Amino acid sequence: MVKGIIEQVKKRNPGEAEFHQAVEEVLESIAPVLEKHPEYKTAKIAERVVEPERQLMFRVPWQDDKGQVQVNRGFRIEFNSAIGPYKGGLRFHPSVYLGIIKFLGFEQIFKNSLTGLAMGGGKGGADFDPKGKSDSEVMRFCQSFMAELFRHIGPDTDVPAGDIGVGGREIGFMYGMYKKLRNEFTGVLTGKGLDWGGSLVRTEATGYGLIYFLLEMLKDMGKSLKGAAVVSSGSGNVSIYAVQKCQELGAKVVAVSDSNGYVVDPEGIKLNTVKRLKEVERKRISEYVKEHTGAKYHEGCNGIWTVKCDIALPNATQNEIDEKAAAKLVENGVWAVAEGANMPSTPEAIKVFLKNKVAFGPAKAANAGGVATSGLEMAQNSQRLSWSFEETDKYLERIMKNIYAQAKKASEEYDQPGNLVVGANIAGFEKVARAMYAQGLV
Ligand code: NDP
Repeated sequence: MVKGIIEQVKKRNPGEAEFHQAVEEVLESIAPVLEKHPEYKTAKIAERVVEPERQLMFRVPWQDDKGQVQVNRGFRIEFNSAIGPYKGGLRFHPSVYLGIIKFLGFEQIFKNSLTGLAMGGGKGGADFDPKGKSDSEVMRFCQSFMAELFRHIGPDTDVPAGDIGVGGREIGFMYGMYKKLRNEFTGVLTGKGLDWGGSLVRTEATGYGLIYFLLEMLKDMGKSLKGAAVVSSGSGNVSIYAVQKCQELGAKVVAVSDSNGYVVDPEGIKLNTVKRLKEVERKRISEYVKEHTGAKYHEGCNGIWTVKCDIALPNATQNEIDEKAAAKLVENGVWAVAEGANMPSTPEAIKVFLKNKVAFGPAKAANAGGVATSGLEMAQNSQRLSWSFEETDKYLERIMKNIYAQAKKASEEYDQPGNLVVGANIAGFEKVARAMYAQGLV
């Protein structure tokens, strides 16, 4: 039955390979749930969940520093609001098109459900490249983007956040424009600055949450992070804070990357250098070796998976680990893979990990800490209060442990113990399906 739905999705959404991939993975996992619940079949829950409630595409005109007019395309997919307002990040990257935003929005539905918080699924962005642009250009772009988006979002309707290419600077510019247009100071975006409604721990949340999830996986294997060799791809928000938590817990992180290449430091990556280069100076990771001569830079980002490690953390982008890279990691003795990026392993790569009994933490469970803490930011905004770092961090840790427990339990209930891909998809789907069924045909 799910085969037919998958075929229909491919026909209806031509050319959107990433979206097809995400739908296929989820639907194949939830097939047994549909068998168990004939009422979901009658109500066409699966057919409805793959169709976004609303899709917005809009023109974003702006002027560069030379006075030239530039035109980009903006997106917001309001995918599913069965369990709460649409929630999900905005990605600014030249590779962005409808298929990427739809895959991310679709994944977000089940991820948000796993957090246990009241958040529906959504995602947005633009094919704009902030790299190499001045702050003024980024500001003009963000203002133009928000000049359209503002009419579709709201603190109880749709609450965007950051993603690739959208950090504190971009959220600030977009929030300022929203406030001016609406004349309202509300929690309409998350990832805000701490002085104006942001939550402590939000910056660290995806990376820290990933490691809290990984610790649960390791606990079940009787292993720990102490002395483990870790490779973390990317050197953006997720990678930096995953590396920080790994180092705090005694692991040795030996490699990080950006979209041009990767750095191997056998002594252990010096995170302060990475943070300064990427967060402050906005430079390339290749600069790292100028300061640390024991380290080596290699051109080409995917080579990072040939570096020997115990734990691999794909924290950059979708489909960065293919079958060949997965086989190399296995050959080099990897024990665990936890996904900080969204859908970073191809379906073939996942099969290699599962077949070789590598513990595998899928993105929608393992990287849910970011959106969970966004949910905590929304709660604090509604209360008009700010929680302490410790309190928020503890809450995050609790949520990640609970996500692991839910995914593990579902994998056991559906006879695939230890398969957290299936477990996370089922546990995330069940809540959304119950809510959609209860709310009737809307
Ligand atoms: P950032 O923009 O902060 O960092 C992204 C990093 O990945 C950069 O080092 C970037 O290199 C690298 N990268 C981007 N595109 C590619 C590519 N095509 N090939 C290789 N490397 C690439 O983004 P985040 O850290 O926020 O996001 C990383 C991943 O985590 C994404 O998949 C995102 O969807 C996911 N995620 C993020 C969350 C968050 O809270 N931020 C929450 C949950 C998931 P360069 O500097 O060269 O561009």
